[in-house]
Amino acid sequence: MSDLDITAVVEAVRSCLPPETKSKGIGLHEPVFDGNEWDYVKECLDTGWVSSVGKFVDRFEHMLEDYTGVKKAVAVVNGTAALHIALKLAGVKRDDEVFVPALTFVATANAVTYCGAIPHFVDSEEKTLGLDPWKLEAWLREIGEVRDGQTVNRLTGRRIKAVIAMHTFGHPVDLDPLIEVCERYGLVLVEDAAESLGSYYKGKHTGNWGKLATLSFNGNKTVTTGGGGAILTNDEELGRLAKHLTTTAKIPHPWEYVHDQVGYNYRMPNINAAMGCAQLEQLQVFLERKRKLAQRYQDALTKILGISVFVEPEFARSNYWLNALILEKGYAFQRDILLEELKLQGVLSRPVWALMHNLPIYNNCPRMDLGEAVDMEKRIINIPSGAAL
Ligand SMILES: *Cc1c(COP(=O)(O)O)cnc(C)c1O
Repeated sequence: MSDLDITAVVEAVRSCLPPETKSKGIGLHEPVFDGNEWDYVKECLDTGWVSSVGKFVDRFEHMLEDYTGVKKAVAVVNGTAALHIALKLAGVKRDDEVFVPALTFVATANAVTYCGAIPHFVDSEEKTLGLDPWKLEAWLREIGEVRDGQTVNRLTGRRIKAVIAMHTFGHPVDLDPLIEVCERYGLVLVEDAAESLGSYYKGKHTGNWGKLATLSFNGNKTVTTGGGGAILTNDEELGRLAKHLTTTAKIPHPWEYVHDQVGYNYRMPNINAAMGCAQLEQLQVFLERKRKLAQRYQDALTKILGISVFVEPEFARSNYWLNALILEKGYAFQRDILLEELKLQGVLSRPVWALMHNLPIYNNCPRMDLGEAVDMEKRIINIPSGAAL
């Protein structure tokens, strides 16, 4: 087997990017502010409605509902806070276990920990880069004991309450078989759709499949509010509770401060929602440009042996939040040389996140065999994917 032609790969990636990016260098996912951002933010400043009250929060939530098709969207301060509340509303309690893919951003696991619960790491499949429902089912057959509609982990004695499906780089997890597993074992499905605004599974937007789902509007996501997130649900009552819990659990009253539980100050400020409205107005354009860039990468790299660009699974229409180069097995040893060479050519690229079970903080958590995730971690490189490109 010959080595990967690094020069050819770098040349192919470069050929997909605008020439002017060569001199100034190009980030992984830079935001685009070509719409009404300045006008809407100025309106907040002019009227003084910058903080926790104002019309843009409601408008932003309604735009998210219209776009994704979910019944209730609740805007919050960031995607991690959204996950925290989604898990609480899913019924995750202290000492429960929650299935989390080992291949994810650390926020997914952290939100479980905020609930006093324990992440239980599961493997991913190369077809989606997301949670492998078949392998999860096999693992549950081995360790799961269903009692009164709930599953207990035979090895730890703890209840397994929920599963978080994270749609990696915007590509949907294979949800149908996962939902079957969840039903059989009484697990609540929560979608971490932080990366998948604009991505569809079998024609329906991600975030509609779990009991609850979450979005992120961090600066590097497809749509940004500076910092921000949202909780999505098709259950009206859960939607109402999500709003209540993220706004200090205050009982509506003209002047009295009565709070009926320990709530959170997780509400999205109006000034951020103003940006979000302007960004959502451009989402369709962003998605078209991102899909075109993904196609250019795919075309440019087809001829090169030993490497490919990740393509959405057949049941999905993806936002291609981050494009990923996948080194074939056997070429993993060249990953760091390629990263180095891309950097030298002004193209920022990154390996995928460190696997959760390898972080010292999550070293002792329960886990299944993570063979695929361990193998994929060594072979994935994210390349520039912003809508400006
Ligand atoms: C971005 C992201 C989040 C949430 O991030 P915030 O910065 O808190 O908005 C959560 N999970 C995944 C997989 C993400 O990519």
